Amino acid sequence: MRTFSVRVLDDAFELSYVPNGKTNATKTITIVCDPDVPIGENLEKIREKLAGIDFDAALIENPLEYDFSDTIIGVNHQRIDMGLALSNMLNIPVVSQETANRNGLAEAIENKRQYNQWHLDYYGEYAAKRNYGQEAMLTIGNGYYGLRGAYLAANADVDNYPGMYVAGLYNQLTTKINGRDVVNEDLVNLPNAQYLSFSIDHQEPFSVKKENISDIYRSLDLHTGVLTTTMLVSLPTGHLLKICAQRVADMNQWHRFAIRYEITPMNFEGTVTVFSRIDGSVTNANVDRYKSFDGRHFDVTETTINGSDAMLSGQTKTSKVAFSIGSRLSSQEITPSTKINESVTDDVLEQNFSFQAQTGTTYVIEKAVAINTSLETKGDLNNAVTSELDDANFSGIVQQNASFWNEVWQGSDIQIDGDLTAQKLTRVNIYHLFVSASPISNPHLDASVGARGLHGEAYRGHVFWDELFILPYYTLHTPSLTRQLLMYRYKRLDAAKQNAAAEHYDGAMYPWQSAQFGDEQSQLLHFNPDSGKFDPDNSRLQRHVSLAIAYNVWLYYHSTNDTEFMTKYGLEMLLEIAHFWSSKAVKNDNGRYDIKNVMGPDEFHENYPNADEPGLTDNAYTNIMVSWLFTTLANIHKAMPAKDWSTITTKVGLNDDDFNRFDDIAHHLALDINKDGIIGQFAGYFKLPTLDFEKYRKKYGNISRVDRLLKAEGKSPDSYQVAKQADALMAYYNLSFNTIDNVLKTLGYKMPSEYLTKNIEYYLARTTHGSTLSRIVYSELSLIDGNMDQSFAFFNTALRSDYYDIQGGTTAEGIHLGVMGAVLMLELRNYGGVNEFESELAVDPHLPEDWHRLAFSERFKGVLYKFDLTHTSIHVTVDKPAKLTVRGQEFSVTPDKPLQLKN
Ligand code: BGC
Repeated sequence: MRTFSVRVLDDAFELSYVPNGKTNATKTITIVCDPDVPIGENLEKIREKLAGIDFDAALIENPLEYDFSDTIIGVNHQRIDMGLALSNMLNIPVVSQETANRNGLAEAIENKRQYNQWHLDYYGEYAAKRNYGQEAMLTIGNGYYGLRGAYLAANADVDNYPGMYVAGLYNQLTTKINGRDVVNEDLVNLPNAQYLSFSIDHQEPFSVKKENISDIYRSLDLHTGVLTTTMLVSLPTGHLLKICAQRVADMNQWHRFAIRYEITPMNFEGTVTVFSRIDGSVTNANVDRYKSFDGRHFDVTETTINGSDAMLSGQTKTSKVAFSIGSRLSSQEITPSTKINESVTDDVLEQNFSFQAQTGTTYVIEKAVAINTSLETKGDLNNAVTSELDDANFSGIVQQNASFWNEVWQGSDIQIDGDLTAQKLTRVNIYHLFVSASPISNPHLDASVGARGLHGEAYRGHVFWDELFILPYYTLHTPSLTRQLLMYRYKRLDAAKQNAAAEHYDGAMYPWQSAQFGDEQSQLLHFNPDSGKFDPDNSRLQRHVSLAIAYNVWLYYHSTNDTEFMTKYGLEMLLEIAHFWSSKAVKNDNGRYDIKNVMGPDEFHENYPNADEPGLTDNAYTNIMVSWLFTTLANIHKAMPAKDWSTITTKVGLNDDDFNRFDDIAHHLALDINKDGIIGQFAGYFKLPTLDFEKYRKKYGNISRVDRLLKAEGKSPDSYQVAKQADALMAYYNLSFNTIDNVLKTLGYKMPSEYLTKNIEYYLARTTHGSTLSRIVYSELSLIDGNMDQSFAFFNTALRSDYYDIQGGTTAEGIHLGVMGAVLMLELRNYGGVNEFESELAVDPHLPEDWHRLAFSERFKGVLYKFDLTHTSIHVTVDKPAKLTVRGQEFSVTPDKPLQLKN
């Protein structure tokens, strides 16, 4: 075990370790902390000094004494959690010397490693978008609602945003902007019912302000879903208190959440008053760009306070969804003689009660909250809420949640040994996938997963093609959940057909942005913060969203053999989507088919420069996926009972002529491939000039959103070979290389050898990764191309993208659920090397060097596979006899005879 120690001096760090090869001679380095630079830069000097030496752990010799973390230090009159910071920086556990002395070094390190793998922690008070971002990352929820991890005493302001959203609960509002009526449909921010605060000796209630707080530690326990916030309060009046607040979403009784609030006076005795609110004055105000739009989405219709109970009812303004939110306070401090004061002003319900508090004693108050809406609850909402509250209490919920979370961590975990950060953030992603949708609540809901989860208001809570990056993880672990989410799309099939018909197409054209009804919710204008202007927005032309839906339907059916779903819903969706594409494809003079007026995933390209009509012709990704869809349908036809096929095709109104046309299109869609085998992103792409990336980097630094920069300069990204994200090569992310290679063959294109390598190089030089979805695709592509280092570098940026908010403020507006889901799929498909595209699972692991072990389960065609992979071995168990292909060789596995191979 190699360790180094850090001793913190007033204004310096002293590092000691035993250098390589020598046994006893300790080397000591002193790093002076520059008080004028951010603490991170001072810590960076540690990394620099220790570069090239492998350590298993670090020890802090003289941390400050806190019960929430044993690695907090004070340097240059600042405090930081050195353990968290170093652990993130060096990917090792960090323990205090004292804990190591007490428990033994090995045990202390192992305990810390375990802790780090299961907790998302933040130390200190952050402001503005950084705090908003942490709130998003600390969101609790259960698929029905998401509750941002804001401080209980916080109201929405520039630093805090206690939002709460219910899946599928949208409302449309119209705002007049520059004389135009602009309609927006938003996932509604509901009343803030988590509010709790206190006052001492009848002073003002405590509010979240720097001058009131000496320390804050927030810790989300991924194992249990409990979020704990410990606050050391130091009021200007000299009162010191410790406030420990825990909250948990009920995963089973999904209308509820509960809060346990502990108040400990540290240096005084006196009157403590507890304040509880349901704040119905809230608006949708999480996203600055949307502030000019009306954000008040509901009316409060009724308020009642009855002793320790409070209830607020409301209705959304245009979607007319009724909701009731109720809360119940309980505490030993509420005795029969306690007077609970109440007030209702400006849609804010407040209760308060007081008790006498002693120094050093902890007083516990619980608040249970329930919400019901007319979307999922029949009958009287207030009654429903009241009965939800009847037996809701914090520890009961935590206990009952255990079976849910155990199942998640037993069945859906991905274990990574050797990379602490990857392990922690992988579990953070899994956690958020189950906050955003859950197999328990979702069967009762009519909702799918939004691009930003239930965690914030960016993209107005809409559902995008991002499902393509999210659903496969559910498909392989909790397939019933995918089925449920696909039903959101099935229920909007009629809307998609109307959408197509309105533009004179056949079949179903799903909207780029979908919300309550399945009509198109993309805006026609998009605000450009770099120019301060609204630019036209053609993103709705990303018709490839239908292909993402078809892909998920196919993958679900292929992985589960759920023929009931397929015959009742899935095939109908596939056929309607195919019918749409068939009506959009037009035969040209060369005998090939063109698909015009579309956009690919690269949102920098909306039209041809100076064109009169919007969109592009023959987007490569779209055409490849359309050809794949038609071929896939033909294969489904062959495998399906003739009767089922004919019932559904008759329902959809397709006949042999249509299928002949599908076949013809599948073989003759046009791609623009140049002589070097580069697949043009769309027809005419090669005629565009390249952009002088160097010049723009020099001028602006970060050019990931070069579209905005160009537009602010009066230019257009349409005119250049520059991409926001993977586009021409996107299909290689969705399916296996062989599948897409076969599509190109089906289309009659002969590709030169090594063409993928050349394409990757070509497009990487033209991509700014302005969407976090870009790097995942390039990680996958790089791996297919045998470039592990590049693959892992992209993976690592994607893995950390929300944790570090790499886009500088977007996590504040909700997590990027697509990236989170795709990171998990990269671990399974890329590094675990398990691909589910053929009739049997195919396994070809590529573990990153530092990953000693990668273990996970997958459900495929009714069999539960457990994979345990190392650099030297492949171990697979099954719960039923099954076949699988390992590096091209087929194996039969039975429950009593696991597969064990040396690598
Ligand atoms: C990306 C889209 C994505 C959307 C929602 C955009 O920035 O370009 O591909 O669907 O975000 O996540």
